Amino acid sequence: RRSVLWFRRDLRLGDHPALLTAAAAADEVVPLFVIDPALWKPAGDVRRAYLLASLRALDESLDGRLVVERGDPTTVLPRLARRVGADSVHVTADTGPYGRRRDEAVEEKLAGRDVPLHRTGTAYAVGPGTILNGSGRPFQVFTPFSRAWARHGWPTPADSPGRTTFVADAGEGVDGTHWPAEPDLGDLGLPPAGEQAAKDRWAEFLEDRLGDYDGDRDRPDRAGTSQLSAHLKWGEIHPRTLLADLAPRRGKGADTYRTEIAWREFYADVLWHRPDSAREYYKPELAGLRYERPGAAFDAWAAGRTGYPIVDAGMRQLHAEGWIHNRVRMITASFLVKDLHVEWQHGAREFMRWLRDGDLASNNHGWQWVAGSGTDASPFFRVFNPVTQGERFDPDGDYVRRYVPELRGLAGKQAHRPWEAADGVPEGYPERIVDHAEERTRALEDYRRVRES
Ligand code: FAD
Repeated sequence: RRSVLWFRRDLRLGDHPALLTAAAAADEVVPLFVIDPALWKPAGDVRRAYLLASLRALDESLDGRLVVERGDPTTVLPRLARRVGADSVHVTADTGPYGRRRDEAVEEKLAGRDVPLHRTGTAYAVGPGTILNGSGRPFQVFTPFSRAWARHGWPTPADSPGRTTFVADAGEGVDGTHWPAEPDLGDLGLPPAGEQAAKDRWAEFLEDRLGDYDGDRDRPDRAGTSQLSAHLKWGEIHPRTLLADLAPRRGKGADTYRTEIAWREFYADVLWHRPDSAREYYKPELAGLRYERPGAAFDAWAAGRTGYPIVDAGMRQLHAEGWIHNRVRMITASFLVKDLHVEWQHGAREFMRWLRDGDLASNNHGWQWVAGSGTDASPFFRVFNPVTQGERFDPDGDYVRRYVPELRGLAGKQAHRPWEAADGVPEGYPERIVDHAEERTRALEDYRRVRES
């Protein structure tokens, strides 16, 4: 008997309940990944390169047996199931809006061939939709959700797959050679991808940085966070594993880290109940604000040429590394929405194109949080000042100088106020495209008008 294990956001072999189900259902498992144009086309090069690196690592741990197909899964899966003679197809459930629709469509097509689609587990410690309040309703605010989530508890990591037989040479026409071409990233060296890289990074974080995490996590100039987000996004490591490793540890670092994992789970839960919140305002009142269409100012923001050093450093980090520090995500997002008055969806799309960890739930709800329209929205009137934020969280200017070479001649804090430099703004660096104080006033006036209307 044969089963197909269709990998999506679970690119690992350890702690993988769907793999165990696939192995229990058959003598041989065909491991499959489908490059789905609906997800591949909108992705930028850094994101694509990371996924390919992760797939290569997975293929290696399967001794080269990963079957990679390209095309619409509703066509690919039934065709492949027939060719390999599969009796069942197994997946980790996808809980996002697109994935849910796609899987239902695939399930229907497979059912026409008498091949069931089995969903086992999710990308979360507690499956989205599970945690409800006393009245049986979803939580709309983080803190009570996180308490209920912790009370609910989470399963221990799954067993190792043991002696599963993986096959790739699974029949005529299935050769697994549909790998896309490698994007050219120029000088960019991405950090290693894959299950082993995820485990190594986690072990190193636990050993060296967890103790200082609570204090360092807001400092983009320090490597104080775990940088596990892309590994989590692609399921190279499961949050269950992280929570089990944290369980015996005491102290603020472990507590804060658990809370961050809870945010990821919360946003997935919100998306489960309100799939529209990926695109629409969670709190609709802010849809009535006066917004500008994305034009030259948006382009300057995206290119890291606003004249505000920490905003520019963040956007350049995004394009260079496909990752931005959380504090700087907040600052850059706030600048787009409240200084340039562009709707959050445009910024969310730009982030999703480039982020290696780009995840609809965390990204779009993170943007809504900044825009003041999300679940626990920071109040709209709390407008980030890009200069003082820079001075506070990058006090020596090291982060800014790392990503904005034009500012390397400015010492310490001065990198955050190039317009005050004795010789003026350094050559090649732009003047500020807007005056923060004026734009803040406009944002607050617009907000007042919406509140009163
Ligand atoms: P750590 O500080 O080490 O945190 C550990 C893990 O906790 C992270 O890997 C992540 O899985 C989770 N986490 C931490 N903070 C958050 C948060 N605020 N919301 C949800 N999960 C969190 N995170 C993504 O994974 N993908 C995204 O596309 C994404 N887009 C964002 C967009 C905006 C505008 C904002 C403000 C935040 C966004 N975040 C996103 C959340 C956060 O910025 C990243 O998870 C974090 O920077 C990843 O770095 P890390 O792994 O070193 O984090």
